[in-house]
Amino acid sequence: MKHFDELRSIPSIALRALPAWRHRLRRRILMLPRGASLEDQRMMKRAMELAQAAGDRGEVPVGAVIYRAGVILSEASNDREASGDPTGHAEVVALRLAAIANGGWRLNECSMAVTLEPCPMCAGALVNARISRLLYGARDPKAGAVDTLYDLCRDPRLNHRMEVIGGLFAAQCGSLLTNFFRARRIAKRTNRPNVA
Ligand SMILES: [Zn+2]
Repeated sequence: MKHFDELRSIPSIALRALPAWRHRLRRRILMLPRGASLEDQRMMKRAMELAQAAGDRGEVPVGAVIYRAGVILSEASNDREASGDPTGHAEVVALRLAAIANGGWRLNECSMAVTLEPCPMCAGALVNARISRLLYGARDPKAGAVDTLYDLCRDPRLNHRMEVIGGLFAAQCGSLLTNFFRARRIAKRTNRPNVA
C-alpha cells in the first residue's frame, strides 16, 4: 500500500520540482487561441516561412498552407508582382493548388493557415472551396473580411460556414508585414532623386 502511495505522489513531486517548466507551459497555453492545435501551430510556422520568402522576392509577405489530417495539400505565397495577376493572393494560389492535389474543388475536410486575415476575395474563395477551418495570424484593418470589416466565413446567409481561429502568432505575422513595408519606405526614400 505504501508503495502505491509513493507512486501516486511522483507526479506532484515532479511538478513542484519544475516550477519554471510549468510556468512556461501555462504561458504557452494561454497565448494560443482556443482550438489551435500543435499541428495548426506547425502549419502557421510554415506559412510564416513562405511569407518571409515572398517578402525576400519583393512580394507583400503573406503565406498560406492547406492541410488535412496532418498532411499538407498545398502551400503558397503572394505572387501578384511576379504573375501580374490581381487574384494572386496566397490563399487563392493555395486553393488552386490544393484542388489539383485533392482531385476536386471541394476541400471540406481541409484547414488553411494563413499569416494575414483574408480579404473579401479570399474569404469568398474559402467559402466557395468549402474549407472547414481557417486559422489566420495578423488582422488586416484595411481589408480583413473575416473579423475586422466583414464576417464572410461565418455569415449564415451564405451556403457554407467554417470554423475560424484568428490571432495565431499574430505578432510575428504582423511583424513580417511591418518590417517589409518599413524597408520599402526606407529604400524609396534612399532612391528618391534630390530635387533641392
Ligand atoms: Zn486576399
